Amino acid sequence: MRDLFLYAEKCKKELDRLKIRYAQNIVFAVNTRAKTRLGVCKKSGDKYKIEIAYALLDEKTDEQLLYDTLFHEILHTCRGCMKHTGRWKELAEKVNTACGCNITRTTEGDILPDSLVQKPKYRVVCPTCGEVFERYKRSPLIDDPGRYRCGKCKGSLKSARIFKAV
Ligand SMILES: [Zn+2]
Ligand SMILES: [Zn+2]
Repeated sequence: MRDLFLYAEKCKKELDRLKIRYAQNIVFAVNTRAKTRLGVCKKSGDKYKIEIAYALLDEKTDEQLLYDTLFHEILHTCRGCMKHTGRWKELAEKVNTACGCNITRTTEGDILPDSLVQKPKYRVVCPTCGEVFERYKRSPLIDDPGRYRCGKCKGSLKSARIFKAV
């Protein structure tokens, strides 16, 4: 597991070196629920919160993707940089050139590479309406679907088909 704060500090040092002024009040957090988004920068008042997908902190993930995402989000905290055009774009290009990064406007909101997306282990198919429920781990629904009703049609899941990913 990588230390997000250590990586954030490294990125900030690089930006200091390039004399790019980012916000001083940024909170960094790991988003364990994000299944598709690499990172996001939220502004509230004059404070910023940058959330980075848990998958990027996995040692198996390409380290560069973590750097790119961090730079992308930190640059959003620069003055006039909440959009992916104009000043943000200029600064992103500056960092790309200086640090060999590949910061793109699609880094954020981008779909996580397939290899990083946790795949559901179980699929439960409603026998009445065909709605599919995905579960990432074994749960009471998997063990005893008869106790549950479909969230969509409210029908019993008693005879639901359960598929287990191999
Ligand atoms: Zn962005
Ligand atoms: Zn149903």
